[in-house]
Amino acid sequence: MIVDVQNDFVPGGALSVPDGHNIIPSINRLSRRFENVVLTQDWHPAGHISFASSHQGRKPFESIEVEYGSQVLWPDHCVQGTGGAALHAALDVPHARIIIRHGCRTGVNSYSGFLEADRKTATGLAGYLRDCGLTHCFVGGLATDFCMAWTALDARHFGFEATVIEDALPRQRYGRQSRSRLERYAGRRRHSHAARL
Ligand SMILES: [Zn+2]
Repeated sequence: MIVDVQNDFVPGGALSVPDGHNIIPSINRLSRRFENVVLTQDWHPAGHISFASSHQGRKPFESIEVEYGSQVLWPDHCVQGTGGAALHAALDVPHARIIIRHGCRTGVNSYSGFLEADRKTATGLAGYLRDCGLTHCFVGGLATDFCMAWTALDARHFGFEATVIEDALPRQRYGRQSRSRLERYAGRRRHSHAARL
């Protein structure tokens, strides 16, 4: 599962992850070892609830309370159909079978590839994986603390084994915190094993 390798999340993008582009060769290489590859794509309509610009007087990185809880506000990013929302051109995974787009509804955000932030609206990914007979998700990608972490944790929530692939995570400023959180949930042993893939 390759999470949100999109132009807006690499340097030069609207919400860039430092060095985000540097993980793409690893993702390409590791993906060839998997028959079933899923891509996720953050995919917001203009005026999305997670955009600071949608809330008068608010600035990016402030938090507000919305119907489903706390929402961090971001610069406009990954707007449907824009270049920023497109998958990065260096991503070379032609055998990927499905792209799951999340955060598609104006009034609810979604960091996870499985379940939107209201924790009720499913994306359909769990059903797809089950129908394919898959039981174990190996996860890499961008936005480690948010989309990547939520996707990996929700994989567990839906009853799948989940492994985060260290080589396919950016060495970014959020790294240490998100790593310890993921290790706590996903299990250090599998995590380390995955790093050797
Ligand atoms: Zn987003």
